[in-house]
Amino acid sequence: MSATEQRLEDILNNDIWDVDSNPHITVDSEKCKNCNTKPCIRLCPAGCYTMSEKTLVFSYEGCVECGTCRVVCPLEAIHWEFPKSGRGIYFRFS
Ligand code: SF4
Repeated sequence: MSATEQRLEDILNNDIWDVDSNPHITVDSEKCKNCNTKPCIRLCPAGCYTMSEKTLVFSYEGCVECGTCRVVCPLEAIHWEFPKSGRGIYFRFS
């Protein structure tokens, strides 16, 4: 792990999440099967997208609400909105 990645991880460790039980991001896995590049895996700063075997696995709980995945998805497979009722991440800068 590079020094830059470690620093980002340290910063994220300072934050607090009030996770909504209703996901604020949904992914159309059928569309994902036709995506060769899967930029969400490389560009999500929180590591919410990973591959398991040949399947894209997504978890919204650690999302930092940057919106990158919605923008970079070439197949518009990601439906994204802010968490309801002010939930989600609370940034704490130190
Ligand atoms: S909004 Fe940002 S942090 Fe959240 S899943 Fe998408 S890329 Fe990752």
